[in-house]
Amino acid sequence: MTEPTPTKIDMDKLVSLCQRRGFIFPSSEIYGGLSSCWDYGPLGVELKRNIKQAWWQAVVQQRDDMAGLDASILMHPQIWAASGHLEGFSDPLVECKNCHLRWRADELKGNTCPSCGGELTEPRQFNLMFKTFMGPVEEEASVVYLRPETAQGMFVNFLNVLDTTRKKLPFGIAQIGKSFRNEITTGNFIFRSREFEQMEIEFFVKPGTDKEWFDYWLDERLNWYVKLGIKKDNLKLRQHMKKELAHYALDCYDIEYLFPMGWSELEGIANRGDFDLTQHAKYSGKNMDYFDEETKEHFIPYIIEPSAGVDRSALAFLCDAYAEEPDKEEIRVLLHLHPTLAPYKAAVLPLSRRENLVAAARKVHADLRQCWMVSYDDAQSIGRRYRRQDEIGTPFCITIDFQSLEDEQVTIRDRDSMNQIRVPIDTLKTTLAAKLSGEELFVLPPGGKIWLEEKKG
Ligand code: ATP
Repeated sequence: MTEPTPTKIDMDKLVSLCQRRGFIFPSSEIYGGLSSCWDYGPLGVELKRNIKQAWWQAVVQQRDDMAGLDASILMHPQIWAASGHLEGFSDPLVECKNCHLRWRADELKGNTCPSCGGELTEPRQFNLMFKTFMGPVEEEASVVYLRPETAQGMFVNFLNVLDTTRKKLPFGIAQIGKSFRNEITTGNFIFRSREFEQMEIEFFVKPGTDKEWFDYWLDERLNWYVKLGIKKDNLKLRQHMKKELAHYALDCYDIEYLFPMGWSELEGIANRGDFDLTQHAKYSGKNMDYFDEETKEHFIPYIIEPSAGVDRSALAFLCDAYAEEPDKEEIRVLLHLHPTLAPYKAAVLPLSRRENLVAAARKVHADLRQCWMVSYDDAQSIGRRYRRQDEIGTPFCITIDFQSLEDEQVTIRDRDSMNQIRVPIDTLKTTLAAKLSGEELFVLPPGGKIWLEEKKG
């Protein structure tokens, strides 16, 4: 199979657009920044909310076999003993600067990465978890950790969810939340940071059906990215080699995306077997068995875990959406973001700042923002305003001109094709809703017509 051609997106350009237009800023910037921490600005926060909402809709809202959860970040420290995080991350570690695999320094034979031959960092007694203290006294007994993954919150609530929802296997728990890792190597913008957000599913199944469910989730999750606009050629599945598998995993695949720095993990999907519930049963003393009423069997469920990152998804969606197109003498920069993800669904643009036009435009804006995030812009020429909206991925611009005052119609301009249609104001909401849900609208609303001067910027 031939590898897809590498993406042309330049990370520096994307970082600059994100900062210039208010998607993402370096954290604590006026103090010189804080390494590998990022703040999502007015547009970034909308993009992130839309990604999380799309994920929640697909994996919780539209399914019978899933329940949501929001567990606390600080958890009982024994959880990290049971999960293996305390032990697993307290060795002297070196990390490959190229592929980021970590190795026990005391087990290494050479001084290069055994996997790819890359250069290694200096060894450090390293625990990936951020440690803090609970209560007023800073002593060993009050140590707690910022969670390095959201998963454990779902394992330890397995019985609570089972009892309160009366769900039967197979079923899953889904959670979105912040995680913290004191990463050795960070970088590549929001790809690897020390504070990040995860969207994780723990899907509990009967042992023996795990392989089938594993394949199901690989498919499901890959398609989620494609449905939201990521080009298929920029995605691939990579199975972990045996020696790469985490201590708990029976099998694991990464969904990789062709980021500007190369193919890298976007989401990990693991078959965790019965490791987690067995460990928590052992450490907590609680019985974590599931009773199958049909077969009258007791067993510990196996877990399939699709684990995605909100920030990495945001980066992938932004990279995939970024485009530069020749436009007369200039270059049109645009984000082809899927309408579901676009920070603003539309922008209302009065042709001039004349009082009567502004009043009509404000009315349209007030009406549309009841349903969606809609921007309002009356500064500079209409062409410039279109470009500004293109650059932040706004799918539709609604222009109110002098004719609108007479015929009660407005123009809708499509970001990608730059085509325009003219529709009556009282059908604007339904037209926009149809367009945002992907309808081509060959049939226009009553009174609507194709705008004659197509592509007039
Ligand atoms: P990597 O090796 O690339 O750091 P990982 O294999 O340690 O990632 P997992 O533990 O599988 O990552 O976490 C699941 C998902 O959480 C990842 O696919 C990624 O999207 C996200 N994620 C993990 N660590 C980070 C981080 N430091 N910054 C941003 N996102 C992260």
